[in-house]
Amino acid sequence: MNTDTRIGLIGLGTMGAALALNIAEKGFPIAVWNRTAEVTRRFHAEAGALAERVVPTESLADLVAAIAPPRAIILMVPAGQAVDDQIAALAPLLGPDDLVIDAGNANFHDTDRRASAGLPMRFLGMGVSGGEEGARHGPAIMGGGARADWDRVAPVMQAIAARAEDGTPCATWMGEAGAGHFVKTVHNGIEYADMQMIAEVYGLMRDGLGLPAAAIAETFAGWNGGALKSYLVEISAAVAGAADPLTGQPMLDVILDAAGQKGTGRWTAIEAQHLAAPIPVIEAAVAARNVSARLAERKAGEARFGAAPQALDLALGQLEQALIAGKILCYAQGFAMIEAAGRAFGWQLDLPGIARVWRAGCIIRSAMLNDMATALAEDPSRNLALAPFFAERLEAAMPALRAVVAQGIMAGHAMPALASGLGWFDMMRTGRGTANMIQAQRDFFGAHGFDRLDGQDRHHGPWGKPG
Ligand code: NDP
Repeated sequence: MNTDTRIGLIGLGTMGAALALNIAEKGFPIAVWNRTAEVTRRFHAEAGALAERVVPTESLADLVAAIAPPRAIILMVPAGQAVDDQIAALAPLLGPDDLVIDAGNANFHDTDRRASAGLPMRFLGMGVSGGEEGARHGPAIMGGGARADWDRVAPVMQAIAARAEDGTPCATWMGEAGAGHFVKTVHNGIEYADMQMIAEVYGLMRDGLGLPAAAIAETFAGWNGGALKSYLVEISAAVAGAADPLTGQPMLDVILDAAGQKGTGRWTAIEAQHLAAPIPVIEAAVAARNVSARLAERKAGEARFGAAPQALDLALGQLEQALIAGKILCYAQGFAMIEAAGRAFGWQLDLPGIARVWRAGCIIRSAMLNDMATALAEDPSRNLALAPFFAERLEAAMPALRAVVAQGIMAGHAMPALASGLGWFDMMRTGRGTANMIQAQRDFFGAHGFDRLDGQDRHHGPWGKPG
């Protein structure tokens, strides 16, 4: 055993291999093990100059023996049963001070369960975002579990994490138990929504304005120089500008329009329902992926009802402003959900800190997160849409969102996420809403009672129920 080796990693797939190389590159010797031994051998053989800091092992016992106690072992295997299996296999080999870190996309309820299961070792649940490139050169890391366990591995996590422009590493402890995986889940929900809104605006440019892919690429690239500066807008410009090597056509034109998903967006939507936290933009984005997968149904729908005409009279600047408004509304919902979860689960979630962690390394990194961190620091309990900076931005951008959604809907273009953002905004700015009707109906058929505006002590209507 090399006493310098304090950390290990299980699962040399896309993410695990990249993360292990990142850790080795930052100067931490690392022992690795993979279920298929050949993968471990190939990984070591291809590690180049970093191979001397990588200890390949071919059994879990060898992996454990190669690490000096107290050990930290990262799991980078598929979420769910594989994580439970690995924990069970490690249990007899590890001591009470050894630490297992699940760095996959776990459902945070599973992380909560594992954290309270009385495992014979220490346990952290850690969300890692940024895809393969992020894992290799600097991901955003959201840690959850006992603070003391996080502090033990924080130097490694901060060394391998992305850095924001001000140099702060994007690796932070979020809270106890499943807090890290919860924040990563909402990150992914927001990612679904960001991507969907970009796709909707792309659709308006393609089908509503008839723009060719090259012009769409140029438009996204231009937007990436302004308020929308972000990784997702940047890659949207790149994919719109790419040509298919097989046919020479725009790459986007040869890609099937059915979106895949691994479930984190769905978990966000389900959890939001449990928390009674409204996130309609994210819910619309999850539903849109499900609708996209129903190809035959959509083809039959177009044959029966006809496609939307190419008849929009919108300026590209309006589309940009609509996307800005949609993004603010979506993040306002996402952060409000995180705030609600903090209260529900007893986590001291640091909202501005979460905005700061997302500034670099992760898929939703964007310039706007800097301003969000500032606005949330002023008052974390206030909805982001009401923070003075973003309220002003919304005031400026809402007419464009309204025009874009109105025109698109009149012509039959699908834009569920942007329209959901607008619907939420209009409810949020309606002091006297329409739920009085719902309360009256509930009282009528179920004697559920209602509160009165005048505070009088009479809680049922005159429809034959007790008054
Ligand atoms: P891959 O499919 O590339 O790799 C999976 C790894 O897990 C392989 O090393 C595989 O070993 C191993 N494995 C699979 N099943 C088991 C099992 N039952 N027991 C032990 N080992 C097993 O997955 P990724 O690297 O993409 O993902 C790993 C985790 O990271 C997942 O939770 C994923 O959701 C998460 N994640 C992925 C991101 C991405 O962009 N890909 C981004 C952020 C998180 P073998 O070689 O033997 O098959």
